[in-house]
Amino acid sequence: MTRLFGTNGIRGVVNKDLAGELALRIGGSWGTYLRTIVKRPKVAIGNDARLSNTMLRSAVASGLLGAGCDIIDVGLVPTPALQYIVKMKHYDSGVIITASHNPPQFNGIKGVAADGTEFSKETEEAIEARYFSGDYTYVPWAEVGTYTTWDGAIDLYIQGILSTVDVALIKKQRFHVVLDCGNGAGSLVAPLLLKQLGCTVTPLFCTPDGTFPGRNSEPTRENLATLLMTVPKRNALLGFAQDGDADRAIFVDEHGDYISGDQSLSLIGKYITREKTESIVVTPVTTSTCLEDVIKANKGRVIYTKVGSPIVARVMMAQHAVFGGEENGGLIFPELQYCRDSAMTCAKLLEILAREQRPLSELVAEIPHYEMYKMKMRCPNEKKEQVMNELIEEMKDTKDVLRIDRTDGVKLFLKKGWVLLRPSGTEPIFRIYVETKNQQDTQRLAATYKDIVERLIARV
Ligand code: MG
Repeated sequence: MTRLFGTNGIRGVVNKDLAGELALRIGGSWGTYLRTIVKRPKVAIGNDARLSNTMLRSAVASGLLGAGCDIIDVGLVPTPALQYIVKMKHYDSGVIITASHNPPQFNGIKGVAADGTEFSKETEEAIEARYFSGDYTYVPWAEVGTYTTWDGAIDLYIQGILSTVDVALIKKQRFHVVLDCGNGAGSLVAPLLLKQLGCTVTPLFCTPDGTFPGRNSEPTRENLATLLMTVPKRNALLGFAQDGDADRAIFVDEHGDYISGDQSLSLIGKYITREKTESIVVTPVTTSTCLEDVIKANKGRVIYTKVGSPIVARVMMAQHAVFGGEENGGLIFPELQYCRDSAMTCAKLLEILAREQRPLSELVAEIPHYEMYKMKMRCPNEKKEQVMNELIEEMKDTKDVLRIDRTDGVKLFLKKGWVLLRPSGTEPIFRIYVETKNQQDTQRLAATYKDIVERLIARV
């Protein structure tokens, strides 16, 4: 198991968990690792809007330069923009300094592979191994890397998105969008992109600011109160919100109703597989069944993976999937790149709305509705495996359980829905998900399985 890299790269509170020394040594380890693959690696580096960015970016860059890598610094960019330019400019790797949706005291270091995808677990482990053993080398003075800046990343990225949608069709509609960038890195892309798509934009918090003065960075319903209120007040077609590094997109319909990530994933998946029938869509086991319902209706197939967007992206590549993503608003469009991308998601949704000529609320209402309940339960790490095994042992012969899936944790498919028991990779907890068609059944199952798991944790 990796110790520094979590589900989303290295992340922590600045100058507490994550200071310059660590970043420097990570840069050295990263550069040394890259030099086992390429003689003179080219590495793009960028950052979100946080106050500690320069400190961490320059420390990682210093380590990489010392290890003999050439750096191309692209400045403040959304994570998907950095990923896109790594792929398009054939760089050997990318570094993005970001803590995504976390509070302002956090920051992080995330790795991008040469194909623009997030680092695989194997790559992270290889870099970590060098970090902890001190197995990294700085090159002789004459071989130290070069450092250049490049300000073309945003332009290249926006052009990339525009090349995948019907710009003329969207432009004709003159859509009115309330845009909430949450003072994040999306502020540099989303206003420009929407303008190029002919939209009237009402901006909320579209100035990058690492203190996040407008709202908390995670686009949850609670954090988007201003957006929910502004959309109907301004008679806009929709609201569009991003997280701090602009890989996740959340939408609000014309009435000011919040659309969950499961709903937008299913809605966009529905229209993509309607055009490309009998195709594959990839998502983690935590996603609502509403996605599978709409994909199956288009004769498509859903492949479920472990939780984690790099895993989803890699399975999409291997399976030639037409679409994929997570229930948190992180949607992946292979025609642009294999990573979560909020600006691309917005462009696609506008294209769907332009084709359908119907309001967003109407399209969302056609997505099957499920009631999901999520809870956490404390469990010591060393007990987790045994609890899961005991659960399977106890449940496998009960008539209510139709199928047991072990893709990630234990997923029990029941007559009325499903229950998922997932051990956290970083904390001593289980996450428990329950989904059925109605609230009553969900509540009942949640209570039943809470008791069962509690009993098992106490017993093992
Ligand atoms: Mg993010």
